[in-house]
Amino acid sequence: MRQFLFGAGNASEFQNGISDLKNYIDTHNVSSMILHLYCGLTDTKLIEDRVNTLTKTFPDASLAGVASNGEIKDGKLSPRDILVSAIFFESSTAKVYSYNHAGARTEDIGTAIKETAADTPDLCAIELLFPGSVMNSMGVLNKVSECMPNVCIFGGYPIGHDMDNDKPFVVTENGVDLDTVIAIMYCGKDLYVDADKTAGWEKLGHAFTITKADGHRLAEVDGTPALEVYEKYLQITQAGNFTRDTVEFPLLIVDNGEEILRHAYSYSEDGSIYLSGNVHTGQKLYLTYGNPSGIFEQVNKRCAAVREFEPEVLFLYSCAARKAFWGDDMAGREIAPFGELGSATGFFTGGELIRMSDRGTVFEHNITLLTIAMREGQKKGLVLPKAKIDDSMLVGQAYLLKRLAQLVQSTNDELQRMNEQLQYMAVTDELTNIYNRREIERRINFALKNEYQYENGIGLIMVDIDHFKKVNDILGHDVGDIVLKSVADIYKENIDTNHGEAVGRWGGEEFFLLLPNKTLEETEEKAECIRKAIEEHDFNNIRRLTASFGVIHSSFDQDKKRLYIKVDEALYQAKARGRNCVVVAEK
Ligand code: GH3
Ligand code: MG
Ligand code: MG
Repeated sequence: MRQFLFGAGNASEFQNGISDLKNYIDTHNVSSMILHLYCGLTDTKLIEDRVNTLTKTFPDASLAGVASNGEIKDGKLSPRDILVSAIFFESSTAKVYSYNHAGARTEDIGTAIKETAADTPDLCAIELLFPGSVMNSMGVLNKVSECMPNVCIFGGYPIGHDMDNDKPFVVTENGVDLDTVIAIMYCGKDLYVDADKTAGWEKLGHAFTITKADGHRLAEVDGTPALEVYEKYLQITQAGNFTRDTVEFPLLIVDNGEEILRHAYSYSEDGSIYLSGNVHTGQKLYLTYGNPSGIFEQVNKRCAAVREFEPEVLFLYSCAARKAFWGDDMAGREIAPFGELGSATGFFTGGELIRMSDRGTVFEHNITLLTIAMREGQKKGLVLPKAKIDDSMLVGQAYLLKRLAQLVQSTNDELQRMNEQLQYMAVTDELTNIYNRREIERRINFALKNEYQYENGIGLIMVDIDHFKKVNDILGHDVGDIVLKSVADIYKENIDTNHGEAVGRWGGEEFFLLLPNKTLEETEEKAECIRKAIEEHDFNNIRRLTASFGVIHSSFDQDKKRLYIKVDEALYQAKARGRNCVVVAEK
């Protein structure tokens, strides 16, 4: 397997490139040849002219191309051009299939690709190139995801250098086209393909839930207009340069366990924002930020894996938004280490497609860098350079960003910890470490509201320690406190929090227990069991400590507020009957 890369923008460079290819074919055993055109130039006539020359000169070659936001040649970002990659296989084949989607359902195209894949012997990988940002990409991807699980699937969406105005075209042997889905089938008994993605953006703050979305439009999160997330947390307002401002803070969605980044590129008056890829209602969503160190870590990790693979040819499909984030210089530096491991080509995309090896689904990503390593034959045990990127490469703004990202991250962690602590404090009784009154009451009311979910209804127990004043009077308030804590521990030992059972301090030496899905008999039994446990517990210097119990069941009254009154009356009855006993409320 061997790759040639040359520019086609300039006539003489193009001619030289063609001569090199001819020479190679004349002197080598070639089983198949695939030509990729990464078009950073928008001159349709020029592109079609080059396509004609290539197809006439190499009638047996397969050809496919895309509009590109940046061309990657030998692992470097090259000056704007029509970059030609010619890959020769020794025993494998690469064949291009194209499907016109004007008037066709994208599901049908996906099905056609799936069927072709099923009929293709020794299929290793499918490369997809199509303008997914302007068509219903999910139709294609959902069907292609059903292809045999051992087939690697990758690809990219075309996008021009001028993201807003250039048309995202693909190129086939018939010329430039806006309505075509290209699928390239890579086959061979001796062909190895390893594809992966790297992102490196980190979550910022808490999770939101998407409450309204439709395709690329994110309308609402947590019930409020999506734009407010950017306004509130980052002061990215409609008046600013929205696309540029949001590129450092893309959104991360979680789709079937897969973390996917989306760039927000525009908004509408109603507060919806438009994303670089699809989102769905119900998905979790986070704000993220690009931390250069984190990104480098991911890239280095992937580099090490590619090094192990010993690639002959590498496709680098990186997101145009990633280039906008880094700037051209850093975007080039980020991919450079891959260029040292094999002949590397690719383009900056409008969306990256990849199916991870352990999953069936082809996901549409943004802001990721795809690396697709290919090799014919077994590994040769080559010693490849241990190329790496590190923070010393950060200059100017990128360096500042690293520092700021560090600040954001540590502040974020601190806030998260404080938030957890506050949340704990808000629901916990300080002395006994069980729920406070507000929380146990909230839990009881919530359970009662959802009573229909519990086949056996809900049991409630109210407890009051007997003659507690005496404990304080005789042994002092501090001992009284210790006793309260010990009693709380006895409750904790007797409830099953995994099934929603809970206990809280109602006030002073009064407590409430919530027992969802318990019958009256079970609730009474539980009260009796706790009564005994308190009576038998050794409270050190106290000779005898007991408590009285009122028990009620949710079925006793339709008016749930009255349950509180009735159980309190039952407890009063227990006191009247001589304390240290359980009394069931009246219906
Ligand atoms: P009864 O059997 O009728 O319930 O008698 P009692 O003494 O327990 O009744 P009462 O409700 O009059 O007294 C409750 C006492 O609990 C009064 C108060 O000093 C004490 N107490 C309330 N909160 C605390 C606390 O946080 N720590 C301590 N040590 N005592 C408390
Ligand atoms: Mg009391
Ligand atoms: Mg008492």
